[in-house]
Amino acid sequence: NESSTKESNVAKIKVVVRKRPLNKKELSRKEEDVVTVSDNVFLSVHETKLKVDLTAYVEKHEFCFDAVLDEHVSNDEVYRVTVQPIIPTIFQRTKATCFAYGQTGSGKTFTMRPLPLRAVEDIVRLLRHPTYRDQKFRLWLSFFEIYGGKLYDLLSERRKLCMREDGRQQVCIVGLQEFEVSDVQIVKEYIERGNAARSTGSTGANEESSRSHAILQLAVKKHNPIKETRRHNDGNEPKNGKVVGKISFIDLAGSERGADTTDNDRQTRIEGAEINKSLLALKECIRALDNDQIHIPFRGSKLTEVLRDSFVGNSKTVMISCISPNAGSCEHTLNTLRYADRVK
Ligand code: ADP
Ligand code: MG
Repeated sequence: NESSTKESNVAKIKVVVRKRPLNKKELSRKEEDVVTVSDNVFLSVHETKLKVDLTAYVEKHEFCFDAVLDEHVSNDEVYRVTVQPIIPTIFQRTKATCFAYGQTGSGKTFTMRPLPLRAVEDIVRLLRHPTYRDQKFRLWLSFFEIYGGKLYDLLSERRKLCMREDGRQQVCIVGLQEFEVSDVQIVKEYIERGNAARSTGSTGANEESSRSHAILQLAVKKHNPIKETRRHNDGNEPKNGKVVGKISFIDLAGSERGADTTDNDRQTRIEGAEINKSLLALKECIRALDNDQIHIPFRGSKLTEVLRDSFVGNSKTVMISCISPNAGSCEHTLNTLRYADRVK
């Protein structure tokens, strides 16, 4: 199948919105669905406001994105629209990123979790394709988290990691474990393991993981077998093949957490400020990419620094903005859509 290896004309930046269905709790409270998807690129949010004379009036906000996926769209379809077109490009030196942005409970993890699995299926197919079969490419997976501006390896007992930049401005996360993967089942296990290791405070609720960014990377590398046997093996070394291309899946911290900057709890305040900083920096970097700016302001946060090599050279970015449909989330939904609107 020729078309599967060709780099089609894939947009450099794509912004997609995904609306989740009303959940049981919202239905039982008879909450209204205020988000209407018309066509699959337009969407409107109906916001009920109270006027001074206390008669409610409805304000309508309209947006247009590369794609809008309503509550009937399956995860498979999300994959086809967002990540699948990018996969062939990572065999041609592209560094791709796929973000899930949105308030806690809007469906970020639900959306992100299956994507790397589908991606691995397609990558493995390409590795075996006649075009690449003889290149000895191998696929590596890593999974880490940024919490309060610090890095933790989700596949290695949340070991604390640090970042280093080499002379060629390549980002290296010292000690990050990478695992070679060649089938989907093992990837599924890594994802479950990593997700289970994400920051969960004593309550174990969504609460804590909503304050961290989870980053799963799949890297296609080219190995030089002679060089590698000579190298010292410190656990990280054999994976030091040259990166051909990679894709990062980023389950961002809940966007509403960036507003926790006036909370009474000091820790919460610090984390909120860090999240706010990283989401703003991310927006600035994507905008700079979109404008083909030479200078990308990746120094703005740990998140963007870590993703530095994905913001230079051949890059592809997909932003999936997740939104809740219920009237009670209206304010957060509008904030998410405004953020997505500015990214594009
Ligand atoms: P987040 O990661 O943004 O905090 P989750 O992914 O945990 O949100 O989603 C919150 C809840 O809503 C979960 O129970 C999830 O299964 C459900 N959910 C999210 N998106 C969808 C969807 N598109 N269809 C059905 N259920 C969904
Ligand atoms: Mg989540």
